[in-house]
Amino acid sequence: MDGGYKPIFQRKRAAGRLPSAYPQRREVAVGSVVLGADNPVAIQSMTTTDTSDVEATLAEIRLLEEAGCELIRVSVPDEKSAHALPAIKKQMRVPLIADIHFQPKLALAAIAAGVDKVRLNPGNIVTRDRLEPVARELAKHKMPVRIGVNAGSIAADLKPLYRDDPVAAIVKSAHRYIEMLESLGVHQIVVALKSSDVPVTVEAYRKFAWESDYPLHMGITEAGPGIIGASRSAAGLGLLLAEGLGDTLRVSLASGVEDEVVVAKEILSSLGIREFPRLIACPTCARQEFDVIATAGRLQRTLLSLKVPLTVAIMGCVVNGPGEAAEADVGLIASGGSFTIYRDGAIAQRANSLAEAEAAFRRQIALAAEAYANKSKMAVRDG
Ligand code: SF4
Repeated sequence: MDGGYKPIFQRKRAAGRLPSAYPQRREVAVGSVVLGADNPVAIQSMTTTDTSDVEATLAEIRLLEEAGCELIRVSVPDEKSAHALPAIKKQMRVPLIADIHFQPKLALAAIAAGVDKVRLNPGNIVTRDRLEPVARELAKHKMPVRIGVNAGSIAADLKPLYRDDPVAAIVKSAHRYIEMLESLGVHQIVVALKSSDVPVTVEAYRKFAWESDYPLHMGITEAGPGIIGASRSAAGLGLLLAEGLGDTLRVSLASGVEDEVVVAKEILSSLGIREFPRLIACPTCARQEFDVIATAGRLQRTLLSLKVPLTVAIMGCVVNGPGEAAEADVGLIASGGSFTIYRDGAIAQRANSLAEAEAAFRRQIALAAEAYANKSKMAVRDG
């Protein structure tokens, strides 16, 4: 009775990807980040500031970079924003993507500013004559472009089809734009087929992935605030990632800008696709001996900005505490009114107050991170 069972998670196709039955994606380089083929699924996000305010935009970019964002998009709604692009680009560590709607001249300005990729919306720069000047410059500068199909801005002539079959309309919109771009000499293309409806999004990506080998920028658009958007994104993206699809992810949250990166990392690391720091905390109950939720909240930012993939556990009592804490790289548990800090499965320190325990926990995390980084350096040297 087990003939149909095929494990998804036992093997990776390559570091940062799960196996896939779909045709392999072609490679497209976005600055220093290569998408497609066996390259790891990259994390991207978008700023929320007025792009013409260079300092405010750079402040958000720094937060995103610090959180581990690998590609950053800014909106370019007007000429002022386009003029700000060179100054922004100069001060960034990761590739910059310009998000363009309605106005081909803003795409031309972004290309001239030297961004690493342009996103175009086939729902609002629709016709060949409007696309042609942009395509010519993209081809001349060998600059990649993302076709960002979005159910909320589907082209007027595809709306009747969209009402009958939204998946067909979204996929058709992408193919139609690809054909126009290819005929104008553009082949460095990334495709997104987004809807706020999870099944529609999932089926659009699955259908398109059988029909084309361009790399996929994945997301559930306008997923909502905080935990609502995170859950919706995890449901949709999890399904697609489990099939080995997705070359870059953007989690669209109505939430703090770094939250998108935290959720994207969590989706990827929960599926074992990429390795990032993991925070385990018990949900708490009447047995908890200290405020686990508040403690996890205080430590979350420090933990998630670690550059090494440590697993850290915060547990409220002895029921599951010792087991989880010993499994983690660093663990904190309370039992019988005192605290124990574990490192690499062994007791590293004890403390009598929460303040003392938290300080010791942070110290052990720093030591574990240093040890991990040294071990990686030695492995690179010896390997
Ligand atoms: S570890 Fe203890 S406090 Fe936390 S949920 Fe389990 S039983 Fe409750």
